[in-house]
Amino acid sequence: MEDALIGQELGELTALAAALEEPAYRARQIYRGLYRERLSGIDRISTLPRKLRETLERDFTSGLPAVEKRFDAADGTARYLLRLADGKSIEAVFIPEAARDTLCISTQVGCPVDCRFCLTAAMGLERNLTCGEIVAQALTLARLHALEARERGLNIVMMGMGEPLLNLDAVMKATRLLADPQGVAISQRRMTVSTAGIASRIEEFARHDVRAKLAVSLNASNEEQRLRLMPITKKYRLGELLEVCRNYPLRPWEWLMFEYVLLKGVNDSDRDARDVTRLLANIKCKVNLIPFNPGPGIDFETPAAARVEAFHKIVMAAMPCFVRQPRGRDIFAACGQLKRTAQPS
Ligand code: SF4
Repeated sequence: MEDALIGQELGELTALAAALEEPAYRARQIYRGLYRERLSGIDRISTLPRKLRETLERDFTSGLPAVEKRFDAADGTARYLLRLADGKSIEAVFIPEAARDTLCISTQVGCPVDCRFCLTAAMGLERNLTCGEIVAQALTLARLHALEARERGLNIVMMGMGEPLLNLDAVMKATRLLADPQGVAISQRRMTVSTAGIASRIEEFARHDVRAKLAVSLNASNEEQRLRLMPITKKYRLGELLEVCRNYPLRPWEWLMFEYVLLKGVNDSDRDARDVTRLLANIKCKVNLIPFNPGPGIDFETPAAARVEAFHKIVMAAMPCFVRQPRGRDIFAACGQLKRTAQPS
């Protein structure tokens, strides 16, 4: 496989320019063309001389995925099936909102974590994505939807396929590239990484200066319930996970986010809500409630709106709590619904 340019930091591109006996400013031109102008290929970087473009095209790829399919939902959400250089496919989602846009991107092909309510889990893990493959999803969707981070709020959530903290090096490098004001320029305050609760990696994640906000999938009000819904709890016990969260070094502007998928008759009672508030007491956090998004082959149901509201009210009395409106349900783009869409949907 040829090397990809997207995924390389300015220092790496500068070394590459030197190896090609080109001046350092050529590296800055490549960097700008790929990350800031988000051009659709090496041949589009018109600031480079033709000969250099030809050399680069011969020896490298841009690293942009091929857009294989696009599914448009009635609410404006667009789900993309993207084809990588080795033929594997991943998904990324564009979610427009009144005041901002959000891109949900993947960090692995499939996922090794076995959450019982998630369609992606059925795929298992095929491989980690490279830093370039993570960044290229954002660049592709931003270009296709003409999104400009500087004009309107643009958020990135790494909540697509995969467990980001099990691909930590690539995720951290991708975050640095996405946050670079000289390049893509998406503030780290506008990026979120969502984890199923890989406690040991949360500490490692926190050691990075440039990092996204952290969201932890809680999804249960006690250990026994969580073991059933998220078998990974066997490895990272709930008590251990919450202890790591309590010690998480939040930046002054930051809150920890807990995601809670509400499953009818499983984890959505008033008692569950009260237990959640007890579990999260003493953590500076917000809770995001996600009424379950149904999917084929997944044996859970969505709670009634009144049940969601009752749960919401109890948690909200103790801490900030929001109900995430499902987006793009009709095209299986909502949370936990991403799957390999070579299958018809
Ligand atoms: S919810 Fe996230 S961590 Fe769990 S199986 Fe699905 S993609 Fe993996």
